[in-house]
Amino acid sequence: MSGFSASGDGAALGGAASSGDGAPRDSFDVAIVGAGPGGMTAAIYSSRARLDTVVFERNTAGGIMSVTERVENYPGFPEGITGFELAEKMKLQAAQFGAELREITGVLSLDQRPDGGWLIVTDEGSVTARAVILSPGVEARKLGVPGEAEFMGRGVSYCATCDGPLYRDKEVVVIGGGNAAVEEGMFLARFAAAVHVVHRRDALRATRIAQERAFAQPNMHFIWNGRVDRIVGETKVEAIDYEDLGDGSRHTLPVSGVFFYVGQLPNTAFLRDVVELDESGYIVTDAHLRTSRPGLFACGDARAGLIKQIANAVGEGALAAIEVEKYLVALDFAATQANAGAVG
Ligand code: NAP
Repeated sequence: MSGFSASGDGAALGGAASSGDGAPRDSFDVAIVGAGPGGMTAAIYSSRARLDTVVFERNTAGGIMSVTERVENYPGFPEGITGFELAEKMKLQAAQFGAELREITGVLSLDQRPDGGWLIVTDEGSVTARAVILSPGVEARKLGVPGEAEFMGRGVSYCATCDGPLYRDKEVVVIGGGNAAVEEGMFLARFAAAVHVVHRRDALRATRIAQERAFAQPNMHFIWNGRVDRIVGETKVEAIDYEDLGDGSRHTLPVSGVFFYVGQLPNTAFLRDVVELDESGYIVTDAHLRTSRPGLFACGDARAGLIKQIANAVGEGALAAIEVEKYLVALDFAATQANAGAVG
């Protein structure tokens, strides 16, 4: 596996998994790598435009959105909606127009063919597509402290939505000071006896509204200027060791769970030799979401953009699909002209 990876039930969104003779289809107009909000929106637009569309995804549809406990800044849901439910709705909507979802473990290679189309080789087989929309999303960044890898699944977690209920009446730590740390910390506060947010500075990066809510939460506590440097335990997490960067003093805080929210990394390792990436690994595009290679477009959190928001990924997904449609029309027009020239 060289980068974007996926796995799952192999369900066809639109029930059109076969080419007619029972074999899975291997040729599409558009292939979309990643089924987060950007990829799913691209699938809705592309399949609704009557383009044969396949979407490759790992785990469940929705990407990192699907493990977001509550989304309340996406228009149309004034009462808020869980990330999982929003992902399911997007998936259903793409299905209605015939997009096909294939769950895979990894994209192994992505190569341009002599005819200009793209060959996508996955662990679950290969397809060709006339154009590809890259929306592989992001994953949680690891902090890399001793004990983090060792206690993964035994007190160390990157997903409050998944693991929060396991910590009912226990004390947990959240590391980080961004929106994810604060919002997922608030979710943990529903179950845990106490949530300690350890942040390396004395001011949060999270939005003002998230901060106000967190500061008003009685069982949420903040440790400022704290650098966690070790997760401690025998067979499971029992405590964290941290340094107070203000005075250099060292402390041990007994906890049962440690949730890391120290940023995200783009799932673009498989694209390293395929398209231009920026110094942090995000996909570089122009304003039309074209990458450095013809026929390859990109959208969503893994694209080098200014903000990482569901609404933004959705907008980019729509734009990417519309640009792909224009690109294919231009290709067809050029082919028609060439044929006419050859005949004339
Ligand atoms: P983020 O905004 O990049 O915040 C990462 C946090 O981790 C920062 O507070 C950072 O500290 C801290 N950090 C980074 N490296 C660290 C290290 N080595 N040691 C200790 N702390 C470290 O990441 P995020 O919270 O995962 O959010 C990612 C993106 O998704 C953002 O664009 C965010 O706005 C968006 N998001 C939005 C919502 C929403 O709108 N409701 C919800 C979740 C996420 P510093 O502050 O000192 O840099």
